Amino acid sequence: MKPGGTNFSRRHFLQTAGAVGAVSMLHPYSVFASTGQAHLRIMETTDLHVHIFPYDYYGDKPADNVGVARTAAIINEIRAEASNALLVDNGDFLQGNPMGDYIAYERGMSEGQIHPIIAAMNTLGFDCSTLGNHEFNYGLDFMDAVLGGADFPFVCANVASGALGATPNADKPLNNVKPYTILDRMVVTGDGTEHAIKVGFIGFVPQQIMNWDRRWLSGNVSTRDIVDAAAAWVPEMKEAGADVIIALSHSGIEAGTRQDGMENASLHVAGVDGIDALVTGHHHRVFPSPAYEASAGLDPVAGTLQGKPAVMAGFWGSHLGLIDLLLEKQGDEWVVLSAETEARPISERVERKNIPLVESDQAVLDSVQADHDATLAYVRRAVGKTAAPLHSYFALVADDPSVQVVSQAQTWYITDMMKGTEWEGLPILSAAAPFKAGGRGGPEYYTDVPVGDVAIKNVSDLYLYPNTVRAVAITGAQVKDWLERSAGIFNQVQPNASEQPLINPDFPSYNFDVIDGVTYQLDLTQPSKFDPKGNLLDASANRVVNLQYNGQAIDMNQMFIVATNNYRAGGGGNFPGIGDDVVVFVGPDTNRDVLVRYIVEQGTINPKADANWKFAPIEGASVVFDTGPGGRVHASSVPGVSIEAAGDGADGFARYRIDLSG
Ligand code: MN
Ligand code: MG
Repeated sequence: MKPGGTNFSRRHFLQTAGAVGAVSMLHPYSVFASTGQAHLRIMETTDLHVHIFPYDYYGDKPADNVGVARTAAIINEIRAEASNALLVDNGDFLQGNPMGDYIAYERGMSEGQIHPIIAAMNTLGFDCSTLGNHEFNYGLDFMDAVLGGADFPFVCANVASGALGATPNADKPLNNVKPYTILDRMVVTGDGTEHAIKVGFIGFVPQQIMNWDRRWLSGNVSTRDIVDAAAAWVPEMKEAGADVIIALSHSGIEAGTRQDGMENASLHVAGVDGIDALVTGHHHRVFPSPAYEASAGLDPVAGTLQGKPAVMAGFWGSHLGLIDLLLEKQGDEWVVLSAETEARPISERVERKNIPLVESDQAVLDSVQADHDATLAYVRRAVGKTAAPLHSYFALVADDPSVQVVSQAQTWYITDMMKGTEWEGLPILSAAAPFKAGGRGGPEYYTDVPVGDVAIKNVSDLYLYPNTVRAVAITGAQVKDWLERSAGIFNQVQPNASEQPLINPDFPSYNFDVIDGVTYQLDLTQPSKFDPKGNLLDASANRVVNLQYNGQAIDMNQMFIVATNNYRAGGGGNFPGIGDDVVVFVGPDTNRDVLVRYIVEQGTINPKADANWKFAPIEGASVVFDTGPGGRVHASSVPGVSIEAAGDGADGFARYRIDLSG
């Protein structure tokens, strides 16, 4: 076995070996390794998601907390600290920002072309990588073309091409992928002599790819449980002579007992005999870290899983993961004497700002400069069209196009994701809230895209946060309570009184969820059932009236699927009954990536609000609210409500009156 990465790493070994003694920051293992002992350092990147430049393409502005060009600076520094180091990636490198979409949707991967993330990784001399779930997002042919450009091998032991083999070891691997690889390396021991070592790498990806990318994978690939695959392949690696075995586990760290097919199985794969250390990922978290709770087999301070060193290096290049192994040659075998793990950040958060801790590596930037420039042009250029103006000026008082298009995309996505699950066939609703809706953001803080071209930049405007898609299964009664909670943004309104202030400024707009797929009215003569923090105020209050599904009064016992995001589904905003126990789908995709895909696939979107919610009439009542002056041109065409100008509001806002008397 002679993988392409050999030359790179061998060069690094010799360089750093030559530097021993001259470098003052050497790791203690390198300093104190004695005769027959060697310091082997594994460096990990994970979940890069095509982040190479320190740049936020959605916002079209620099970002100091992302980019493997920044992580690269640490890689170089860290190589110099150890007499022997290997660099691996843990997957999810291919998708997740507009550069990834630009290559997949526009530039393509024709013969001989190198994907920019691979170009960056080749520049850095990666030794090995595994596949993450997102490598499958653009289809198998695309992935194959990308992997073919790498100077290093890819390993993934639990995905088979076609049907599963009779045993795991008989599975046919994907093109350009092996279940494991064993790299022949030379390590320098404490006495300065070189010794051959065989370092084995084996990779794993969540089986949930079969659901998430069904359209590409169904009938074309098969998967196995991560732990089962590890148990089958690790003995074969031992037999093939691996001295040290490192698992590249594109899977999170989750406490608790093992379940068959579990998505976040790193704790359990650590228990497989013969695995010496694990690099993990997928969860976009940092390990070791006190943010994890200690539990059986999980030590978040020592950075061990089942007693074995493990690391998770954040995401988007935010950290470099390090595993330091002190090895000793005992007879024919290399034995791990001790280990340390660490995740080293590229930036730090000071007073709500990201302060860079390193500078970009110029060679990495140079290797992708052309694709970076092309991506900038891509995000600034139309990728689709909108047949209705996309604005959020009236998102708090009427059904609104900027919220509508998010719900359309979420419904489109979740409908596909429910196929083949036990939830298929249940009605699918979608919850979305306006993010850019004035308030403390000021009178300019609105989404405002005219009819015509939609650019990727506009999408970040429509979906401000990098949330990921989730779905919950709840009853009609819970749907109603969700809306009661949202309706707490409004003040109570009295009949026969004019110009009453409508909106409670202490209620954040991101907690004003509109639910698409049902129709309803809000009766503001009623008190709010919940306070702005979600605490029950008045169990008998009923602001949500005429709640209908399919033109019929909603059945309070019927089950519905509601598409939402990780914030809400995880209990964010304290919505009644909404939390982990009702979640039925945890998506790997961000809501805005789904929105981009939706716009690209539809070509022209028509986010015309359908007025599925309205205020119920109140005799003799009118209310006032403030919005950005940019809304003036749209005020007369807002569906389901009659809005009239009422002069200026405070601080540059424009004031409007709504006559609620019906
Ligand atoms: Mn990821
Ligand atoms: Mg992942």
